[in-house]
Amino acid sequence: MIANAEINESPLGPTESVTPSQSGQSSSAGARPDVSRETPAISHDDRESTEPGPHPDVSRGTESDAAPQLVDGESPRESGDLADLDDDSTPLATAIALDVRRRSTLVGAPLPRPAATRVLTVANQKGGVGKTTSAVNIAAALAQSGMRVLVIDLDPQGNASTALGVDHRSGIDSIYDVVVDGVPMSSVVVESPSVTGLFCAPSTIDLAGAEIELVSLVAREGRLAKALEAHLADTAYDYVFIDCPPSLGLLTVNAFVAAREVFIPIQCEYYALEGLSQLLRNVELIKTHLNPRLEVSTILLTMFDGRTRLSAQVAEEVREHFPAQTLRTTIPRSVRVSEAPSFGETVMTYDPLSSGALAYLEAASQIAHRDAGSTTEGAHS
Ligand code: ATP
Ligand code: MG
Repeated sequence: MIANAEINESPLGPTESVTPSQSGQSSSAGARPDVSRETPAISHDDRESTEPGPHPDVSRGTESDAAPQLVDGESPRESGDLADLDDDSTPLATAIALDVRRRSTLVGAPLPRPAATRVLTVANQKGGVGKTTSAVNIAAALAQSGMRVLVIDLDPQGNASTALGVDHRSGIDSIYDVVVDGVPMSSVVVESPSVTGLFCAPSTIDLAGAEIELVSLVAREGRLAKALEAHLADTAYDYVFIDCPPSLGLLTVNAFVAAREVFIPIQCEYYALEGLSQLLRNVELIKTHLNPRLEVSTILLTMFDGRTRLSAQVAEEVREHFPAQTLRTTIPRSVRVSEAPSFGETVMTYDPLSSGALAYLEAASQIAHRDAGSTTEGAHS
């Protein structure tokens, strides 16, 4: 069973975290989600029946082998047969038609520019849930739509820098120098070679020592916030995404203090919600003591596999607890998405027609149509 008890203990609670307008919404409907009830059981049996083994698309390394059972977000293009594009008599053809329609409404559609720079911290102390992938792809999608976007790589692994094609060898000027030595952020920011308007403050492995070095520094929790504020005073961005490491240490605390919004990617897998209440507790602590404006504004379901009941059950449970914050779009498991970083690219340029790129474009559009703090469903695109 998913860690439901943890969610019940969450300091935000499923409705405490919502905005006043949402509270009104739920009270008028009289529908506070009953989180104390038994959640749809995801039993051991379920897992066995839904996860018989490695998924064909992932294990064989090709999306063309994916089962032709298409769900929202899955691309028929990547499921193989394109022959019957004009035949809507089969589920595959219907899905293709839907996919083509989704794409045509999204590609090239103008997105609203935020009134002020939106700073989002992409965090989840659970590793490998899609933080970096989501940060760089949504940032790229927004930049391709004409926004100026900065990605701050705050993870010593430097995965965001890699995906954006930005040098992050040890020793170069990086976010480490900004946070630890007070170097101006403008001297480390570089433009990504593949997308105009997309910038990156790279991380190097030196940042691994920063957690310890920060402990003894003055104003250790607010160093990134101060550097970013100074940078924003002379350089305009529409969006800033801060990619966090998989921990709740001082680097993540710095990201929370520097941001206005928290963006949590959740992988549609067993144990997905474990640790979420700890993350939400930390956000509440930061809110109380260091950054009163911080809000969990966005939750994105990642690596959704439409062929497993488990994915659907996790998605359902997350939406039940966080109806306003969870984006309608889910990101499908996609080989193209995982291949892109090895070419120093996001999937938005590596394979813009893939299901992953389309899903990230759709997610970016939904984010752009929301304002910070306004997380009602009605605010979605
Ligand atoms: P960490 O906690 O280590 O920073 P993370 O939360 O940033 O990890 P990612 O690095 O984005 O997670 O993703 C983990 C792995 O999953 C990577 O190999 C990535 O390529 C892969 N991945 C992410 N999203 C998808 C997807 N939609 N389909 C297939 N693979 C994916
Ligand atoms: Mg990462």
